[in-house]
Amino acid sequence: MGITKVHKAFDINSVLQLLEKHRDKAEVLAGGTDLLVHIKEDKNKGDIIIDISDIGEMKKIEIFEKEIVLGALTTFSEIVQSKYIKDKIPGLWEAAKSVGSPQIRNMGTVGGNICNASPAADIVPPLLALDAILNIKSKDEERTLKLSEFYKDKNKTALKSNEMLISIKIPLQKNKKIHMGFEKLGPRNALSISKISSSVYIEIEDKVMKNIRIASGALGGYPLREYSVENFLKGKELCDKTIEEASEKYSESLTRRLAGRSSLEYKREAVKGVFKKVVYNAING
Ligand SMILES: Cc1cc2nc3c(=O)[nH]c(=O)nc-3n(C[C@H](O)[C@H](O)[C@H](O)COP(=O)(O)OP(=O)(O)OC[C@H]3O[C@@H](n4cnc5c(N)ncnc54)[C@H](O)[C@@H]3O)c2cc1C
Repeated sequence: MGITKVHKAFDINSVLQLLEKHRDKAEVLAGGTDLLVHIKEDKNKGDIIIDISDIGEMKKIEIFEKEIVLGALTTFSEIVQSKYIKDKIPGLWEAAKSVGSPQIRNMGTVGGNICNASPAADIVPPLLALDAILNIKSKDEERTLKLSEFYKDKNKTALKSNEMLISIKIPLQKNKKIHMGFEKLGPRNALSISKISSSVYIEIEDKVMKNIRIASGALGGYPLREYSVENFLKGKELCDKTIEEASEKYSESLTRRLAGRSSLEYKREAVKGVFKKVVYNAING
């Protein structure tokens, strides 16, 4: 679809007013690394672009006692540059570091990665594993939604046409030893779109997994939590045998989900290695 108008916005309210007015006809542009490709391929949804890339209030990383808040315009490079995220939330840091090239990391934003709704979006699995919460606004309303409830179907999200993602809240567990990791398997190291990615978050007490969350990328129509593997592991002692058994469960869960796809056999086998690697890296890191 051709573009008829580009608005440049410098604050959240003016974007929300424009979205209210134009609804489906408008699309926001953050870093543009996905949207400009869509426009070039004539796959953009609306003919009006609202450039939000210079809205300062959506560009910050705020660290509080019990949570960290990422503005939706936080770039992958800004995450990689954060020593706090590198030390405390290593899986998120690894995912940001794995994205594209330096140019893509400098331009691409967390909000764009989430809202573009690609099954292979790299920042989404660690955010799912962290149980992140989205702050979404329209002109007259503000709401929060768990990221795990954001994806409704392939390329379909819970975002309404008059809404914008403002920020992402990551709850932090104080005084608990957190183990976290991210692994990505792509066709090659640089500029690769994930064929499989997996992120884990584990709370361990006396060798027992008190809480575990696992999320996958490129293993379904959208990034998702692996609840059956989580339920299998919760409350079990962390040892090689349990991890091996869980990797088999992970693999089995793909049989129905990816039925009929040519990649099924490859992914069923490869996911076992990716999962074991991400768990061992998380607990030894
Ligand atoms: C060469 C290349 C390599 C890439 N490599 C990777 C990779 O390794 N891993 C990976 O995950 N991705 C990769 N990507 C995809 C892309 O860079 C990411 O998805 C990026 O995070 C998109 O963010 P953006 O700010 O550029 O989004 P944009 O292109 O600006 O927007 C993408 C979509 O999200 C919507 N949107 C953006 N922000 C908001 C918001 N705040 N609220 C509501 N809607 C919003 C836009 O309207 C649009 O529909 C690559 C892309 C290219 C071109």
